[in-house]
Amino acid sequence: MLSNHFQNGMETARLAWSQLPNSEEGEFDEVGFSKKSDSSAVESLDYEVIENYAYREEQEKRGKLFVGYQVSLKWFLALLIGIGTGIAAIFINISVENFAGWKFALTFAIIQKSYFAGLVIYVSFNLALVFSSVYIVTRFAPAAAGSGIPEIKGYLNGIDVHGILLFRTLVGKIFGSIGSVGGGLALGKEGPLVHIGACIASLLGQGGSTKYHISSRWLQGFNSDRDRRDLVTCGCAAGVAAAFRAPVGGVLFALEEVTSWWRSQLMWRVFFTSAVVAVVVRTAMAWCKSGKCGHFGAGGFIIWDISDGQEDYSFAELLPMAVIGVIGGLLGALFNQLTRYITYWRRNYLHKKGARVKMIEICLISVITSAVSFGLPLLRKCSPCPESEVECPNPPGMYGNYVNFYCLNDKEYNDLATIFFNTQDDAIRNLFSAKTIHEYSAQSLLTFLVMFYTLAVVTFGTAVPAGQFVPGIMIGSTYGRLVGMFVVSFYKKPNIEEGTYALLGAASFLGGSMRVTVSLCVIMVEISNNLKFLPLIMLVLLISKAVGDAFNDGLYEEQARLRGIPLLESRPKYQMRRMTAQEGCRTRKVVSLPRVIKVSDLVSILRCNTHNGFPVIDHSRSGETLVIGLMLRSHLLVLLQSKVDFQHSSLPSDSRGGSFPIRHNNSEFIKPVSSKGLSLEDIHLSQDDLDMYIDLAPFLNPSPYIVPEDMSLTKVYNLFRQLGLRHILVVPRPSRVLGLITRKDLLIEDDDDSETELQSTSVS
Ligand code: ATP
Repeated sequence: MLSNHFQNGMETARLAWSQLPNSEEGEFDEVGFSKKSDSSAVESLDYEVIENYAYREEQEKRGKLFVGYQVSLKWFLALLIGIGTGIAAIFINISVENFAGWKFALTFAIIQKSYFAGLVIYVSFNLALVFSSVYIVTRFAPAAAGSGIPEIKGYLNGIDVHGILLFRTLVGKIFGSIGSVGGGLALGKEGPLVHIGACIASLLGQGGSTKYHISSRWLQGFNSDRDRRDLVTCGCAAGVAAAFRAPVGGVLFALEEVTSWWRSQLMWRVFFTSAVVAVVVRTAMAWCKSGKCGHFGAGGFIIWDISDGQEDYSFAELLPMAVIGVIGGLLGALFNQLTRYITYWRRNYLHKKGARVKMIEICLISVITSAVSFGLPLLRKCSPCPESEVECPNPPGMYGNYVNFYCLNDKEYNDLATIFFNTQDDAIRNLFSAKTIHEYSAQSLLTFLVMFYTLAVVTFGTAVPAGQFVPGIMIGSTYGRLVGMFVVSFYKKPNIEEGTYALLGAASFLGGSMRVTVSLCVIMVEISNNLKFLPLIMLVLLISKAVGDAFNDGLYEEQARLRGIPLLESRPKYQMRRMTAQEGCRTRKVVSLPRVIKVSDLVSILRCNTHNGFPVIDHSRSGETLVIGLMLRSHLLVLLQSKVDFQHSSLPSDSRGGSFPIRHNNSEFIKPVSSKGLSLEDIHLSQDDLDMYIDLAPFLNPSPYIVPEDMSLTKVYNLFRQLGLRHILVVPRPSRVLGLITRKDLLIEDDDDSETELQSTSVS
């Protein structure tokens, strides 16, 4: 007899059979995001351990050697992720610095004869690089557009965002970043490096890319979403560590901003990966210092050693510093709001017109950016070099501090060109420079602030890889330096440095826009190499975050929402306190399956809904209905495709006693297989197949998480988020209690720590 629940499912199946689209997956646009603006097309990942029959059999077979191999493999992969991300970061930096070097050397050589010819060469060089970037992204790797942090954040929150961890996304991100950053756009390479680290981690975790024939059987130890999640976390930390040469900051950024689940074993591995990155990057930089890497030498990687900056600060300075925090909060929140409107408009109108429009858009922005950064300094009057500066101006053809650009006198420099007509890393180093008082005029700083802020807002969301750290630092350090100039003039104390205020400004803008505090604080200390500023950075970050929070959410949360990524935030919504689990279930008619199901019925049910989990119902000898577990759609599809476990009888396969006679390869059921891989349309079943039966008992998850109907939704939310679940079953109050588990029951002597390490993901 079919249960009522199953009849519900069949009824829905019959009604909806003819109306439903064929595709099992949501549709995605060229940028790799769901076309639907809501979250319904997004699938979740299976982070839960499915303790089915196959899993239990495998656990019993596991020897100590195998466990040791898995633990060693995890550490080996952490090492490879560190090395891979470090090498990718060095490659990007060397390429960007060299392209920038050639560009500026050529432009400076040509402007000795004609400024107009110099402008044409400069604009064309940038345009060529930006075009290569947008071409790679739109034609080859759509998911490589943007910073990738909202998508990785979503992935680690349990959402499967299409295409973000593919091999071609990795390649697109690396080469796209070189083009977009080298092309002088108002964006950075740091966000993309986080995405690159995550891609490297995911690919290593699955043993390479089988599609491109770059894979190794030895690395294919981890295929489940749960294991990949841990590796991707390592990759994110490695990306930040490589971008800023800030290993501790990388670990904290992964913990604070990107991950939703954390555990102590993971901390060690993430820390190890970041340390490996630091070593790789340092070794490469030492090697490059002797000129072996072309224009890439001391510059390139963000590190502004201002350890010889301001020695001390007075109590009175705290007020202007707090003002910097407030400005950072306001400008950061405004940045989030403006980019939100523009991204919404782009996604819904402009980018719908196709790849060509995306290319034209970014090429136009590139021409405007180049024209502005070349043209505006031409309007500025040059300033005489400070007498103390022997390296002012830079030698002809060199870019760096004190750029001599359109100056009548050889002993002059153009302050606006020093920040506008320069590589981003050099511009930031110049803004943080504590050498000269009033190196930049207030007019130049204001001009740069307004123009660069506008360019950063407009460039954000275009179809090229783009990070927001560097634009944020440039914007923040400009107004920070402006406040610093005012403080120097007002207090008239010799020890006050404008560069210190520029650093605080950078921290405040990032805090006001990204709303990251602890990790950003550590990153700023690591890159400035000055521990004395720690309390000041903490102060401005706290103020800017508080001010920003009063207006809107952080940049990544806003962007994730726009991309239809339904993030589960760390705190449940207030109204959930008043709701029960039952009230939280949007669908009242549960589509469930009987233990033994006819193949044709199963196909009907799968075809008429897109759910990924189905409760499985059986009956006890006394006729009582029992929920015996949860079956994943992905597992059902594997069963239908292979057909090996089809049976003629409608009776349970173990009805004659003993274990289940599974003919299927167990390994396919131990881990949740990706639901993206297989769709119902790929499966061809004959009439004979459709008349057969399948016993689901060996393949289902017999211990899904179950909550009573009157549990508060807040509690359900916390359980769901903290355990990284995909499904929770809501049931009526149980009629009896079998036992109680308390802390003492769980304090069992463990004779194998490594085994705990492998399994604890499920309970962390
Ligand atoms: P995810 O989308 O997170 O990967 P899923 O695909 O299993 O999980 P959806 O089908 O997207 O879940 O869920 C949409 C709505 O359908 C939710 O409100 C959920 O409660 C409901 N739902 C999910 N599974 C079933 C089911 N088997 N029977 C009835 N309703 C369901």
